[in-house]
Amino acid sequence: MALTACMSGPYKKTNKTYKKQAKQYAKVISQLPKIDSLGVAQTNFWAGTTNFSLRKPNIVVIHHTAQKSCEQTLKTFTLERTKVSAHYVICEDGVIHQMLNDYMRAWHGGVGRWGTINDVNSSSIGIELDNDGFEPFSEKQMQSLLNLLTHLKKKYDIPTANFIGHADIAPTRKNDPNVNFDWNLLSKNGFGVWYGDTLNLSIPNDFNPYLGLKSIGYHLKDTSAVVVAFKRKYTKTEGSRILTDADKKILYSLVRENMKN
Ligand SMILES: [Zn+2]
Repeated sequence: MALTACMSGPYKKTNKTYKKQAKQYAKVISQLPKIDSLGVAQTNFWAGTTNFSLRKPNIVVIHHTAQKSCEQTLKTFTLERTKVSAHYVICEDGVIHQMLNDYMRAWHGGVGRWGTINDVNSSSIGIELDNDGFEPFSEKQMQSLLNLLTHLKKKYDIPTANFIGHADIAPTRKNDPNVNFDWNLLSKNGFGVWYGDTLNLSIPNDFNPYLGLKSIGYHLKDTSAVVVAFKRKYTKTEGSRILTDADKKILYSLVRENMKN
């Protein structure tokens, strides 16, 4: 895996700012709170334990950058006014740039929800793939992604089902990664759930597809948008809001596969 340190060159200045900000957060968490989360004065009651560590990420969210180049994305993510970032940016040539420590909260998900999690940034790692939003993803880029995911899954014990896309958590606002992204390849390598054989599958009469989508993790605020996201990901169709009988079979199979994880 090619991890670029970026300790010199064009990002020297923002690397310095990164260190300064990380130090400020270290200072915040090393303080004994004067009041607890209920607002009760803790000066005399705080009893610091000796047994703790850093919280670990539990979800990985994959994006496309919708920008023209890796350089443009790195620039966007190092400008304070944009308020966007990701832990990793993977260029088309497979080079991986890490932009902040895995234990820190990147600003990649925005408003979104997956299952019962409504602050996805707090528990996730964000990975951006350099892509203009329409083109296919290069082989080198996918290989680097798989290498990175292998490392993250092992290091943080991330559940197989928790490798998802931005469009999964924010279907009304986002469509990334685009329709060319190979989710089947990812699932074959242990990242995300794919459906099984649907040829000989019969769906129970009482199967409710919307509850099926919800059980996978989708938030049903806008069911049409969820169907579009589902179909882009699992049937490689873009823009359709109709769940066909074949789609329902895929969904039912996914619900069953999801239960195994
Ligand atoms: Zn995104």
